[in-house]
Amino acid sequence: MHTWIPDERQLAYLNWKQVEALHKEKTLLVLPTAAIEQHGHHLPLATDTLINNLLLGRALGKLPKDAPIYALPPICYGKSNEHTGFPGTMSISAATYMAVVRDIGASVAASGFRKLVLYNSHGGNSALNDVMARDLRAEFGLRTFQMGASGGAKFEDIAAQERAYGFHAGEYETSLLLAAIPQFVDTSAYTINYIADVTRPEVLKPEFAPATFAWLTRDIAPSGVMGDPNPSTAEKGERWIEEAATCAAAALVAMLAYENHS
Ligand SMILES: [Zn+2]
Repeated sequence: MHTWIPDERQLAYLNWKQVEALHKEKTLLVLPTAAIEQHGHHLPLATDTLINNLLLGRALGKLPKDAPIYALPPICYGKSNEHTGFPGTMSISAATYMAVVRDIGASVAASGFRKLVLYNSHGGNSALNDVMARDLRAEFGLRTFQMGASGGAKFEDIAAQERAYGFHAGEYETSLLLAAIPQFVDTSAYTINYIADVTRPEVLKPEFAPATFAWLTRDIAPSGVMGDPNPSTAEKGERWIEEAATCAAAALVAMLAYENHS
């Protein structure tokens, strides 16, 4: 898989004696969690995995050279059962996903590391990462963190409708790939689906509301896109990559500095 993560930030490129010699109390390990799932007619299955790697790589590139942060190889498969029925979606169950994260956490702790961040680019994994960050803290005493790949960036220039409901293969994801790896975007195959309208508030929504309904993509978005990729440009993508990487880098630095009792 294509990578933007600098070689010197890849933990798996070290040998075990080099890992043994790291200052493991201070070192922050980053476990990317992503997905292999349908992204409409125009983006590849690996979109979430590519975006995760791209934003993490760019964020790591902003850190001081001596900041002790390493990326673990990603968990590319995620809980993507909302996208079943679309060929190419490779989903693992919540139980499998949590077991894998738990076992990697066990190995991180057994290696002597103390700090781990779950760095996620797929919405279907978010709730599981919340659970696992706490469980790894409780079971192994790790200082655990979790964050979205864009580090809480606001992307103020995305229109309200797209910002609220363009969360899958829409303007944001398409622009990022246009900027970083345009040969993987089929600009002749854009489709549009919006699952709700910001101008007509309803009590029950699929996402981002106090009361939500569980949704499957095939029920609400026949092409697999939730959003509108048409306004996407490489220039916007580059700007948003930079914004996200800046936010993510700041979050990683805060985690590095974070101390608490025990
Ligand atoms: Zn995606």
